[in-house]
Amino acid sequence: MTVDEGLLCILRTAMNKVYLKKKIAPRIANGHPWIYNNEVESVEGEAGGGEIVEVFSHDKKFVGKGYINPKSQILVRLLTRDKHDVIDEQFFHRRIAECWEYRKRVGYTENCRLVFGEADSLPQLIIDKFNDYFVVQTLTLGMDLWKPAIVKAISSIFQPKGIYERNDVPVRELEGLPQVKGFLSEPFDTRIIINENGLKFYVDIENGQKTGYFLDQQDNRRAIQHIVKGADVLGAFTYTGTFELHAGHYGAKSVTGLDISENAVQQATKNAELNGLQDICRFQAANAFDVLKQWSKDGRQYDVVMLDPPAFTKSRETIQKAITGYKEINLRGMKLLKPGGFLVTSSCTSLVSPEMFLGIIDMAARDARRKTRQVVFQTQSSDHPIIWGMDNTQYLKFLIIQVL
Ligand code: SAH
Repeated sequence: MTVDEGLLCILRTAMNKVYLKKKIAPRIANGHPWIYNNEVESVEGEAGGGEIVEVFSHDKKFVGKGYINPKSQILVRLLTRDKHDVIDEQFFHRRIAECWEYRKRVGYTENCRLVFGEADSLPQLIIDKFNDYFVVQTLTLGMDLWKPAIVKAISSIFQPKGIYERNDVPVRELEGLPQVKGFLSEPFDTRIIINENGLKFYVDIENGQKTGYFLDQQDNRRAIQHIVKGADVLGAFTYTGTFELHAGHYGAKSVTGLDISENAVQQATKNAELNGLQDICRFQAANAFDVLKQWSKDGRQYDVVMLDPPAFTKSRETIQKAITGYKEINLRGMKLLKPGGFLVTSSCTSLVSPEMFLGIIDMAARDARRKTRQVVFQTQSSDHPIIWGMDNTQYLKFLIIQVL
């Protein structure tokens, strides 16, 4: 045992203890890993931000171990319910290896969300695997401190060509952490190419949105395979053109993609060229809200309209605005469809439940005076598993309807 390990052992035996109130939320008893400040009766010891603590019920029964941040409203996030687990480098190695086993088991080989935070019992850790490249987000202080262990685990489980940190996320500031991005391995060319469903896509790990690419739609992109054959397709909120290039690949006659960001349009155009689809898939920079409205006034008609907007709200206060936004674009989308055409529509706002989303689409259909039939209704791809009762693990709604 080295001196450091010895010190760690002493620290572990003297681990701080958190006691919950008698009336703890059933949420925690039922497996939710978050413990709010107001659910805690007392804290024994001086637990510094990020330290591992043991959590007990009011009658001193072991609940779990997790990391604490006295500055956060969520005081503790649990990492384990097993009192024999020691939270150390091996723990992270084991957990990340288990995450990879699960992804392989459900069919992912190259690209996947390797770690999906709470759904993988690694609260606020995100790791996206783009074949040999890894993008990491540690969104809380308690997780951030384990970054070296996480990098070590990735390096020993895989043979990574590069690991990059995309911690340029505002939510870190609530934890007293700076927004940062950079290499966690030797520097490498951060513009990489990935394969998905037989297509190739550039991914800009350093400057792309979020971790560079939206893996959560990778299974859903295959769902358009049959409806786009021979079709004139309009896609809005295209980002790097993933859905649109799938449409081209699956045999669409023409595809137009819109995104408000010039940069996204450039990336999408490059992706079209990369796949030899530049004659079928065209992209233009535009505000989808304005263009969908104008084009439906102009009487344009498509066989398939695809919408994949960003989250419209993250707070309950502005949920009505999000509902109005969804209704508006879906109404416009339906008006642009020929009778019998298909609307492919998504929502990644986690506060909008699946039922609520269907309700909004139904309202839009009534306003558009169109009858609809549900064809496909699903959620994010299976590398983002859902934990029932942990609302924000289920966030994506993906719907295909036929508009008669
Ligand atoms: N379909 C993409 C992800 C889309 S992300 C994929 O599967 O990879 C949402 C996109 O909507 C972003 O690229 C953003 O630039 C774009 N966007 C946001 N507001 C917009 C608007 N008003 N009009 C058009 N595009 C918009």
